[in-house]
Amino acid sequence: MSEHLGTSPHQTTTAYPSAMTPLRVGVLGFGGLGQAAARILAPKRETIWVAAADQKGYVYNMAGLNPDTCITTYRSQGSLGYLEPNGVLSNQSIEDLITQAEVDGYFLALPNLPNTFMASVARQFIRSGWRGVLVDALKRTSAVEQMLELQAEFQAAGITYMTGCGATPGLLTAAAALAAQSYAEIHNVTITFGVGIANWEAYRATIREDIAHMPGYDVAKASAMSDAEVEALLDETEGIISLQNMEHADDIMLELAGIVSRDRVTVGGVVDTRNPKKPLSTNVKVTGRTFEGKISTHTFTLGDETSMAANVCGPAFGYLKAGKSLHQRGIYGLFTAAEVMPQFVK
Ligand code: NAD
Repeated sequence: MSEHLGTSPHQTTTAYPSAMTPLRVGVLGFGGLGQAAARILAPKRETIWVAAADQKGYVYNMAGLNPDTCITTYRSQGSLGYLEPNGVLSNQSIEDLITQAEVDGYFLALPNLPNTFMASVARQFIRSGWRGVLVDALKRTSAVEQMLELQAEFQAAGITYMTGCGATPGLLTAAAALAAQSYAEIHNVTITFGVGIANWEAYRATIREDIAHMPGYDVAKASAMSDAEVEALLDETEGIISLQNMEHADDIMLELAGIVSRDRVTVGGVVDTRNPKKPLSTNVKVTGRTFEGKISTHTFTLGDETSMAANVCGPAFGYLKAGKSLHQRGIYGLFTAAEVMPQFVK
């Protein structure tokens, strides 16, 4: 019999991580999402935020970090490395941090610019000998494909890597996997997102990566654009980025989960970079045929009041907690948001 079955619910088991010491969490990247992640973690009991890195420095404190002082320092001085007393300036902040910090899991809130950057960070973790849980909010299919190639290396390294665990891919992909259960056959999955942010500078990487999907642009071109060039482009479009038929990893994730072939998954959306109000309601529609032969569509719509940051970072930590319970059971390797249910972090 499995050691988890037949155990009294009153006993502490690995199935109840809440009864254990808080998860020590690190956040790599301290821009829009990294800062939101810090605020989301602060009131939680099951996690303790102990480490963060940006491009020019890092901070580590095993007693926990204060989001307000971290955010103030980052915004006024440009790096967490200036934070007193634990900040360290470094041009190889990730490497320096991961070799010295005791962290159970990291959320990788890093730009994937170039499109190979996140995979290179994953290889850095593998080389370092660090063991634990990593979570990303990668967006492109080709970026998730690079992670798939590292499957055996993650397993050998003792890393449980959760990929595509933001909003889309992430929350909406998982919702599609759940909605699919009503059907005998899935015909298509259509994801439409609306994002409203007050100014593009708060989410530079997100906006550059979105521009890379616009006609006439690619990742190399968008990442080479200066801030002034991004602003000039957004002036032309009145701050709106409209995207259709995006290369989005929801497709490969739903295909890998055995739900639908990737050519039947469509992703598009509208980003307003000048207004925090969503230009449209983010939703996923899953159309299929039931066992009785009826064709129907399930629609899952996010509340308009929920921000991109809430819908990305919430799921990312839910998957981090799920990844931790896999890791504790000796289950390593790569998992996608469509494969594992996120756990709620209290
Ligand atoms: P941002 O531009 O606001 O911040 C990026 C941060 O990473 C900065 O703090 C920067 O200093 C740091 N950084 C850059 N290079 C680094 C390096 N080599 N070492 C350490 N730190 C480094 O980014 P953002 O807008 O918060 O976006 C982060 C990522 O989240 C993007 O890749 C974006 O595509 C992704 N995202 C995913 C979803 C989803 O639903 N899946 C939604 C939104 C954003």
